[in-house]
Amino acid sequence: ESREIMNHLQEALKKAGCHETVQVLKTGCFGFCEKGPIVKIYPDHVFYVEVKPEDAEEIVREHILEGKRVERLLYEEPTLGKKIEKQEDISFYHKQMRIALRNCGFINPENIREYIAEDGYLALGKVLTEMTPKEVIQIVKDSGLRGRGGGGFPTGYKWELTYRNKNDLKFVICNADEGDPGAFMDRSILEGDPHSVLEAMSIAGYAIGAEKGYIYIRAEYPLAIERLNIAIEQARGYGFLGEKIFNTDFNFDIELKYGAGAFVCGEETALINSVEGGRGEPNAKPPFPAESGLWDKPTSVNNVETFANIPQIILKGAEWFSGIGTEKSKGTKVFALAGKVNNVGLVEVPMGITLREIIYDVGGGIRDGKKFKAVQTGGPSGGCIPEEDLDIPIDYESLKEVGSMMGSGGMIVMDEDDCMVNISKFYLEFAEDESCGKCTPCRIGNKRLHETLIKITNGRGTEEDLKNLKDLGEMIKDASLCGLGQSSPNPVLSTMKYFTDEYHEHIFNKN
Ligand code: SF4
Repeated sequence: ESREIMNHLQEALKKAGCHETVQVLKTGCFGFCEKGPIVKIYPDHVFYVEVKPEDAEEIVREHILEGKRVERLLYEEPTLGKKIEKQEDISFYHKQMRIALRNCGFINPENIREYIAEDGYLALGKVLTEMTPKEVIQIVKDSGLRGRGGGGFPTGYKWELTYRNKNDLKFVICNADEGDPGAFMDRSILEGDPHSVLEAMSIAGYAIGAEKGYIYIRAEYPLAIERLNIAIEQARGYGFLGEKIFNTDFNFDIELKYGAGAFVCGEETALINSVEGGRGEPNAKPPFPAESGLWDKPTSVNNVETFANIPQIILKGAEWFSGIGTEKSKGTKVFALAGKVNNVGLVEVPMGITLREIIYDVGGGIRDGKKFKAVQTGGPSGGCIPEEDLDIPIDYESLKEVGSMMGSGGMIVMDEDDCMVNISKFYLEFAEDESCGKCTPCRIGNKRLHETLIKITNGRGTEEDLKNLKDLGEMIKDASLCGLGQSSPNPVLSTMKYFTDEYHEHIFNKN
């Protein structure tokens, strides 16, 4: 629909005779999906929501030609009951802090000059002309940045391990295999600001001593792929990729590799196997990729959002970044906020914000005035967190303490109408489907968990089944080879802990 709106706006401008003075440009995601499609008009910064192609003529006539506002397309703040003109005045954005998403919805991602105008490739220039690889690694370590793909491993430490493993060939891999149902953080960054990832990968290459990078991206992301290809060509044309970058001896180039949508390929060793053309199955670790990764060479695998933070850390400093967030989790995190909230969308918030603030202040509360029941963080392998834990500050550790995890940033809100047993059944079905089958606890264990949940939701469950679910869930977590199996029982274990009544309801009332 956005393309159609764009075409209609261009036609309307032509008809009005101002197509040479007013430009219509594409941009990335504004995050406010609930109210999309969005048209933002510069230099007035007026933010029109829920725009339809047929609104184009009115926007041109009223706003462009007559300098008025199209009142009906302005966002109405429910709590204030008044129309809001500027993006920053909308409550959805008040508690957000955009570092990884800083350029999304702001620049035209298909034009490298717009990225350069926002200090793009300045960090790469600084690194190549003023810093040693060790200094780059130190600044990333000091910033406290941890992997945003789920594991939360310190990024600077990962780079240091790869740097220390001496080899003629090393690789940088960007993990863009976003597989959580409903998650679109990485896709939005790649669609809205692809150069930030290319720049960060080059910086990583310089830091660890690699000349080649791969972006492993799902083939289901055609727009992200299209914009990445445009960005790579432009970066080569401007001398930011290729040989002798910034007239130094540093060479670095990037190639795309396409994934076929297997969830397990988000795990770094499975991803590496897939890039090599093998089966997307995880390997036992050690050796870790930093020691023996792609084609057995030292490899640093980092996720899209992690990379998107890097240029800003280089430019603004480790102290600036580590000043945001909590003691152990620095910076911001992007979440795909979905489910029963009023403002579904993509949000970037400082670490340490509470779940309640995200759901009620950013998300605008529960849809249709219903009662909140639970929020699931961490994607299909995350746990369901109840009302009593909504005030914990979000960081990697606190989410684990309540039986969930940060994951890559999926966040699904459930209300009083949702059955938590059915929710766990849905996620177990996903885990069963996506298990690569390499190890028995995950391959067979998740199948048995899923079967038991089907039995319970069909009204045939027994108390013995509850005990089996718990024992089997714990065993799968302990004995599985990779993160998929080690976390797949989280939904069932956390709902059994917090919503035992709902399991009993199915078992004793046979429904
Ligand atoms: Fe494959 Fe599951 Fe074992 Fe991971 S835990 S290796 S996904 S079978």
